[in-house]
Amino acid sequence: MIPEHVEVLRQGDDCGNGMLVRFRLPSGLAVYGLATENFYGGHWDLGPTWNYVVMTNPPFLVDAGRRGQGRKLIAMLETAGLKPGDLGFVLISHGHEDHDGGLGELAKTGLKIRAHRIYQRLIQRYPAMGPNGAKQGFPAKCWHCFMPESFFSEYCLDYHRELQELKIDPIGDGISELGEGLRAYHLPGHSPDSLAIQLGDEAIIMGDIVLPDISPWPTREALFDEVAGVVGREYENPGDIFGLQRYIKSLLFLAGLARSKAGLQGFPAHRLFYKGKWSNLDTAARTGELIDHHVQRCGAIVDILADGPRTAAEIARNHFAPELLKGFGRLMAENEIDSHCELLVASGDVAAVGDHRYESNGSTLFENYIESLSPHSRDDPGIGAASRKPSM
Ligand SMILES: [Zn+2]
Ligand SMILES: [Zn+2]
Repeated sequence: MIPEHVEVLRQGDDCGNGMLVRFRLPSGLAVYGLATENFYGGHWDLGPTWNYVVMTNPPFLVDAGRRGQGRKLIAMLETAGLKPGDLGFVLISHGHEDHDGGLGELAKTGLKIRAHRIYQRLIQRYPAMGPNGAKQGFPAKCWHCFMPESFFSEYCLDYHRELQELKIDPIGDGISELGEGLRAYHLPGHSPDSLAIQLGDEAIIMGDIVLPDISPWPTREALFDEVAGVVGREYENPGDIFGLQRYIKSLLFLAGLARSKAGLQGFPAHRLFYKGKWSNLDTAARTGELIDHHVQRCGAIVDILADGPRTAAEIARNHFAPELLKGFGRLMAENEIDSHCELLVASGDVAAVGDHRYESNGSTLFENYIESLSPHSRDDPGIGAASRKPSM
């Protein structure tokens, strides 16, 4: 069923690829949703990327689709009666390729680019600081990437080359006022540079922070060491910008915001429409579900460790269905387990022992620990346990 306040301007396929829709918010503000195709598929399929145009004065675009989709995005803008020159800026929700891959093409039109300042710092190369070996010529953004060399040397070189040429107008931490009624929140965890954009009291564009149907994967705090010299001295602790704890804090902040503003429409970057169905995203309820999901996964890991110490790979084999572990899925699954184990180490339930193994001490303090991560103030998305004291 099509929601009342949305008009389908161009029909896409069953997953929403190529779809163009227009939402009317209660104030009359229009928001276009433009769905561009993704590379991923199979069991970890995200569906297309939903990029949005907000019809403020001037209008602005959020996200640029994956690499190769920039031109399609421009064609979709034209269908909506817009040219890139009509836009005040394009804002990148976070530095994952399915959101900034099309940026190189869009930038050629002279469009101004806004993104979090960590994004601006991570798209640069730092030849003297990067890891040795195959990653040496790559920007800091991908030093941590767990994809194998066969993948990144084929798909990522041109993408990174394009990005590092770009001039970015940086957005800072916490809350940034971007214009009348327009606020950006820095809510890291899924990535260190994740932003959510609030449109008055009516809507919030959430990038990959909150998604319907699927649980966005968290980063690992261990990634901080690689980029600590690059992200800026403002970030002292891994948990300031990376890891499951930081992600959960971002979710808790969004939940509080959604509860305080009844009727706040959430716009997710994936699965707005998927397999013939519209998602009806209740942001407060969905953030609660996502936090529960992580609590349950921590519980499942503690149960698996009751039989003795295990590596992330062993836990992943035990926890995930075999089809989720095929190909690159195995690397994503292991990343997910490591990320949860970091939280379990912080909560005091698990210890990292030799040979990359984790050991449980039988306690289950994680649930209370996760509850304690709630922000202390609704005005500060950065406040929480790991920001006040070193978390590892
Ligand atoms: Zn992402
Ligand atoms: Zn995404």
